[in-house]
Amino acid sequence: MKFACSIHVRGVVQGVGFRPFIYRLAHEHGISGWVLNGEDGVAIHAEARETALQAFIDAIRTQAPPAASISAIEVQAAAANGAPGFTIRESERRDKPTVRISPDLPVCEACRRELFDPADRRHGYPYINCTNCGPRYSVILALPYDRPNTTMKPWPLDEYCDAEYHDPANRRFHAQPVACPWCGPHYLLKDASGMLSDNQAIQRTVQLLCEGHIVAIKGLGGYHLACDAQNATAVNALRERKYRKEKPFAVMVRDVEAARAIVELSSEAEALLISIGRPIVLAPAKADLPGVAPDNDDLGVMLPYTPVHHLLFAADAPDVLVMTSANRSSEPIAYDEKDAFERLAGVADAFLVGDRPIARRIEDSVARVGALGPVILRRSRGYAPGAVASLPVVRPLLAVGADLKNSITLVVDGQAFVSQHIGDLDHYQAFQAFQETIRDLAAMYDVNWDDLLVVHDAHPQYFSTTYALALPSAEKLAVQHHRAHVASVLAEHGEWDKCVLGVSCDGTGYGDDGSIWGGEFFAGSAREGFERVAHLRCASLPGGDAAAQHPVQAAAGFLAQIDGLPDVTAAPFNFTSRYQYALELVRKDVRSFTTTSIGRLFDSAAALLGFTRGITFEGQAAIWLEAQARKSVSTVAYSFPFEDGELDFRPLLLAVAEQRKRGLEPRDIARAFQRGVAQGLANGIRELCSKRELNTVVLSGGVFQNDLLLSDVRELLDAQRLTIWTNHAVPPNDGGISLGQAAMAAFLSDHRE
Ligand SMILES: [Zn+2]
Ligand SMILES: [Zn+2]
Repeated sequence: MKFACSIHVRGVVQGVGFRPFIYRLAHEHGISGWVLNGEDGVAIHAEARETALQAFIDAIRTQAPPAASISAIEVQAAAANGAPGFTIRESERRDKPTVRISPDLPVCEACRRELFDPADRRHGYPYINCTNCGPRYSVILALPYDRPNTTMKPWPLDEYCDAEYHDPANRRFHAQPVACPWCGPHYLLKDASGMLSDNQAIQRTVQLLCEGHIVAIKGLGGYHLACDAQNATAVNALRERKYRKEKPFAVMVRDVEAARAIVELSSEAEALLISIGRPIVLAPAKADLPGVAPDNDDLGVMLPYTPVHHLLFAADAPDVLVMTSANRSSEPIAYDEKDAFERLAGVADAFLVGDRPIARRIEDSVARVGALGPVILRRSRGYAPGAVASLPVVRPLLAVGADLKNSITLVVDGQAFVSQHIGDLDHYQAFQAFQETIRDLAAMYDVNWDDLLVVHDAHPQYFSTTYALALPSAEKLAVQHHRAHVASVLAEHGEWDKCVLGVSCDGTGYGDDGSIWGGEFFAGSAREGFERVAHLRCASLPGGDAAAQHPVQAAAGFLAQIDGLPDVTAAPFNFTSRYQYALELVRKDVRSFTTTSIGRLFDSAAALLGFTRGITFEGQAAIWLEAQARKSVSTVAYSFPFEDGELDFRPLLLAVAEQRKRGLEPRDIARAFQRGVAQGLANGIRELCSKRELNTVVLSGGVFQNDLLLSDVRELLDAQRLTIWTNHAVPPNDGGISLGQAAMAAFLSDHRE
């Protein structure tokens, strides 16, 4: 006896090869009926014997294509119509394109096999892809996601590709970027001696890399600069030419085996490394690769993810390649040829260029397995512009984020799409990219500007704020920076009414009173808002933002309040004259701002422990301090008292200074400082949670990228049976701010559901 049912599959199930998958599965299980892309997912009508139907439904869940992510499968009985066979029906048309845009995907196993099969039509072809893999966001020019709306438009399909494209049983059925060597784009190598194409280009690139040259290689979302990571001369040349003094370079390794040879890879970290997002994974370094990540215990590794990468390794490229975004220090990644050639002249010795244009710049993502699970530190390729949360808001909403590590969030039909990492907006090119990304996503999702609610940071001088205020939309709303951090975690959890204690620790953010916040405790919920209930004792920030660049300058603002401090201009501290100058500013109250920033507290401790020079990348002094602390086995914790809603840093920093003066090892002092910070935070959390009868704690903000601190705090709170929530889908740093802004605005606006 035949049964019939209608099956509705929700989640990321469009543009990921789901219909051909269902088609093949139906044939395997002897199912008749049809499949189509529906309003909000894939709709299937299936008829078969009961056991076959059940096996078919089970297989949908267990065998789904790698890029799909099923959030729900609903099955309902239906009337059988006895139609024979199984077909893919035309999609239901809709007025608005709210279909999710899939992030870019790494080349799949099936394509990889064909890539290295001499008998295959696409043997050695760097643009091989199928519905299970390949570019998405980086080639889409507009929705709906059809070939003419992609950067593959200039390459019409030949007969062979066209047949595959239209064959429902084929892996390349409606694979928009499908191509072969006869009809598709190609790669070229350009260097001083001329131009080579295809296989010769790959061979020559490998030869250049082996000889210690630097090659710019076009990838999915921009150019990389590549060199042999084990060749110190090449690595140093890259640093010099790229004006990148100390910030670590990421490396691409041949395979997981090669990754294991250079970093300690836990099973969780390995799972992250091979996950579909293919991020750069930070893990403790095992091998010494001079110049790659100076003074850093971690190394960022990633696996090859485009066919070109696989071709390079197969042609015997070095096992470990530096693969860093092609730009000069802190500029956004170069992604079009003209720009790349201009900006990288004098940096790269040669260019491996692909014909297929890149629609928008997307950098590699960076992730790590932390004390509380996987953390994304930079969310970009492989993740963006995926939806990370559903917000209870009907109206479209644009949240423009913060000025550092900017990302934007666009909410359409309640789906929060978070953009790729854009960068620091004080750089002209990043600010351009910020505007492009807003225009781009708004156009893609057909946003009506008259109806759009625009959300920005409360800082009146942020570039993002000024830009937001000038937009033509009807309504604007400011959200305080640290509340946005806390709300970003609640948005990930979809918890709007739960009252939590939110602890937001970072470098800088504009506070309600106009001072610079960064060590804040809040009580409340996303729906009702957050009341600031405690904070770090106020210090000074002499010279404003410049203090973030110079740990001794930040230290002056804190140490000015401490009695009985040893002379820090003498040995072993040897603070530079900048300290005296900053101290003058504090004493005369000139260009000094009030701050509660825990980020600057870490900088002050780092200065006392020997980091007296300026930093060359954001967070450098705090990262250095954490690395010092990790080398120590000390169980001491310096006092960081929590009293009357205030964490007093004076005994904490005094202990650091005194112990250093006494000659205790800096690493042991660093450890005791970190334990002290953790204990102070935990004491505050405990007291406030018990006073307000709260049992859930939210930790967010850039300071919580410090995994040692996070694990110390967790250890201290575990005993209290408090639940801790942190960020997993968006970064805990300012890259997550736009999501938090959107979540807060969903409730602050009048147009809620
Ligand atoms: Zn594939
Ligand atoms: Zn073709």
